[in-house]
Amino acid sequence: MSDTVFSKILSGEIPIDFLHEDAMCVAFNDISPQAPTHILVIPRHAYRNVAEASEKDPALVGHLMAVCSKLARKHRLENGFRIVTNQGDEGGQSVDHLHFHLLGGRAMQWPPG
Ligand code: 5GP
Repeated sequence: MSDTVFSKILSGEIPIDFLHEDAMCVAFNDISPQAPTHILVIPRHAYRNVAEASEKDPALVGHLMAVCSKLARKHRLENGFRIVTNQGDEGGQSVDHLHFHLLGGRAMQWPPG
């Protein structure tokens, strides 16, 4: 069992309000928001990253994307939004439990840093 800050959120050890929860995933606000809306969508199963989850449970990855889109609608991001997942050191991943960032509420830059 992995022991990350997200496993503590899932177990309730770190209390947090979920913006969405279902049998496969939960969503909550990022502690350090990089946009007016910055939500993390994470699976209950502790896959380390998107590559591992894509190999072992591709349907879950699709579900996480669908939940991001549903949350974007709910948070009225009709002008646009960005979904990001970071993988590994060079990808900028800091928590080794798969998560999608849903960012919106401001104009995004390209290329990302
Ligand atoms: P990564 O850098 O791995 O792509 O994203 C990890 C994200 O988790 C960061 O945006 C960071 O702010 C967020 N984060 C880290 N610890 C906590 C926490 O305890 N609570 C919440 N809500 N977000 C966290």
